[in-house]
Amino acid sequence: METISFFDGRKIPLERHKVRIVQQLNLLPVEERLARLKEASSNLYLLHNKDIFLDMLTDSGVNAMSDRQQSAMMRADDAYAGSESFFRLEKTVQDIFGMEHFLPAHQGRGCEKVLADLLVKPGDIVPMNYHFTTSRAHIERCGGEVIEFLIPEGLNCQSDYPFKGNFDTKALAKFLEENNDRVPFVRIEAGTNLIGGQPFSFGNLKEAAAICRKHDIPLVMDASLLQDNLYFLKIKDEECKDLSLREIMRAVADECDIIYFSARKLGFARGGGICMRESELVNPLKELIVLNEGFLTYGGMSVREIEAIAVGLEETLDLAITSQGPEFIAYMVDELEKRGIPVVTPAGGLGCHLDASRFVPHIPQEQYPAAALAAALYIAGGIRGMERGTLSENRDDDGNEKIAEMELLRLAMPRRVFTLSQIDYAIDRVTWLFENRDLIGGLRFEHEPKILRFFLGKLAPLSDWQERLAEKFSRDLPDSL
Ligand SMILES: *Cc1c(COP(=O)(O)O)cnc(C)c1O
Repeated sequence: METISFFDGRKIPLERHKVRIVQQLNLLPVEERLARLKEASSNLYLLHNKDIFLDMLTDSGVNAMSDRQQSAMMRADDAYAGSESFFRLEKTVQDIFGMEHFLPAHQGRGCEKVLADLLVKPGDIVPMNYHFTTSRAHIERCGGEVIEFLIPEGLNCQSDYPFKGNFDTKALAKFLEENNDRVPFVRIEAGTNLIGGQPFSFGNLKEAAAICRKHDIPLVMDASLLQDNLYFLKIKDEECKDLSLREIMRAVADECDIIYFSARKLGFARGGGICMRESELVNPLKELIVLNEGFLTYGGMSVREIEAIAVGLEETLDLAITSQGPEFIAYMVDELEKRGIPVVTPAGGLGCHLDASRFVPHIPQEQYPAAALAAALYIAGGIRGMERGTLSENRDDDGNEKIAEMELLRLAMPRRVFTLSQIDYAIDRVTWLFENRDLIGGLRFEHEPKILRFFLGKLAPLSDWQERLAEKFSRDLPDSL
């Protein structure tokens, strides 16, 4: 691997791109951050972007595009049917994944919707290494149930195990022996999102695929975060370390029957799609795409985005590009760990994950510790992260709170967007917050939606802790915004 080392021995991630377009950021004074948080009912999804300094909510649709992507967008071919832009993307996808069919969709959840509509019926069970919010919601909407077969290490926040996204293949095999007639497909998620962007190993993927083949059950990969998983396969998996990213990508695809992805993540653009081999599922899925997403040569995407995805997918196979996200994340995780701040280890893809259950152990899970931490970090630094804990779950049928297995605050690292000094700022504000963690209190719902409640829910603090935190910040850093 071609590496760049610093002569003085420092190990800091080096950007392999230069900035050519910039967007000015606002850092509001802390009193105003408090006021905006109140207006947003302590739900950071309800903030306005102009009131945020570092938006670390997600990597979805907010990665920086390259000059090559921008120039490809200029030549996009606008047509309802038969756009050349689509055929260029289709050819790229076929080359990369080696699958014949590409069905476009407006974003990842569009793929999930049509797959669930076609494949899942009431009483079905979909085994997976771990769920994602929208994936599970669509399966349950169709009357199905999700069962997770993650290795136990996957839920251990402090670990040095490199492949925490692995399937417990023994348990999966046993389950399929007994229940294969109720399983329409098995889903494997790359760069497993909700456990901290953790990858699977190539050997584990092959084992899961062999088990599925034995029972003639399709293996469906959610490849939205495959970019990070590829990077970890290249640098941590003995089986892959001598292969190029393109070869790894192909080897991974060869194990799957269907691959779908959110191009808001994979491909540095916005959109999505389903890749598959010839099968009797292709035509019914095409009909559902036309019904739900759009005609087969755009699927709800703009032709400009389609061009950008085609170029972005190729760029994903360049290690100098793909390494940027995980290297920045590893830097942030290492720096926070040095300061004794609880983060998910090893560093994964997608973002740096604070472990709220150890950061604010005094807040019970019914009071949404990760969401409280998210609100507190906005007060402390104008930084927006995303709660991934009990708030992101839904109540059960009897209205009881479903307690999440992990309480994480994800600080996502959109690719090529932040500079290292901005990451240092985030590290500094998290450190201040950790020193003052006793001031952080819980939250409760004022308005609680039934579906995916974390997006639109309105919350309120259980005391005046937000005011006290803002006052303490002003006392500790009187000359700073
Ligand atoms: C983001 C994401 C999705 C959903 O994609 P959208 O484009 O946001 O609809 C599905 N699965 C995983 C693993 C994701 O990270």
